[in-house]
Amino acid sequence: MKQNEPPEWVKQYAQDCRVLLGIGDEWHISIFMNDRPDGMDTVGGSVQVDTQYFNAVIELRRDNFAEEDDEAHQIILHEMLHIALASYRLVVEQLFMGLPETMRAMAETMVSQAEEQFIQRTSRALLRSISVKSDRNLIDQDFTSEKSVL
Ligand SMILES: [Zn+2]
Repeated sequence: MKQNEPPEWVKQYAQDCRVLLGIGDEWHISIFMNDRPDGMDTVGGSVQVDTQYFNAVIELRRDNFAEEDDEAHQIILHEMLHIALASYRLVVEQLFMGLPETMRAMAETMVSQAEEQFIQRTSRALLRSISVKSDRNLIDQDFTSEKSVL
């Protein structure tokens, strides 16, 4: 189990993302390292979000997190953005229930693709909002009242 623990900087960066994105204390977010997030060889990370009970489990691909760099940061930001969008996503999924079954899968695909594109674009843009190490204390100072434990 210990080898699935994320490095300390991963936890800290996720915490910085949480503050930046305004993800509230009601969320319980767990992060695990493994070799195949979501059972896939190609993805750097994945997240399972349970909006109803405010639980989220992030899996990160160990190989991509050997070092702290922009690519690793972007993956964390990406997964945290999924959590930030969770309540919107829940509403959309509830609306899908009103669609004829034949249209549901198509609608799901369309919304998922649009969401991934939005998140990818936004995570790249936000990368500049959280700087590594040196600025970390700055962010903590600015948002101390919202600080929370992952
Ligand atoms: Zn995604």
